[in-house]
Amino acid sequence: MIPLSEPKEGASGKTGRWRTEKPVLNKERCTNCLLCWVYCPEGAIERTEDKVEIDYDYCKGCGVCANECARKAIVMEDE
Ligand code: SF4
Ligand code: SF4
Repeated sequence: MIPLSEPKEGASGKTGRWRTEKPVLNKERCTNCLLCWVYCPEGAIERTEDKVEIDYDYCKGCGVCANECARKAIVMEDE
């Protein structure tokens, strides 16, 4: 099994401090397909038993998850 990396605090702190926009998840639209989990460069999408969760400590607000979600279940909003 391939080990998965997990976000960790770096020398300049947690990447969540970089954010100017934040992804907001609409759980009604989410089908738990996990595409956002695959693409998030920070490992800031967490899998749960039913829907994904966003770890705002490490989400840097890049918007990749919102772009990849075919269901438009994630939208970016100003902080
Ligand atoms: S890509 Fe969209 S539908 Fe799929 S798990 Fe993420 S938020 Fe849910
Ligand atoms: S905005 Fe970027 S860092 Fe934050 S959860 Fe989405 S893909 Fe990950």
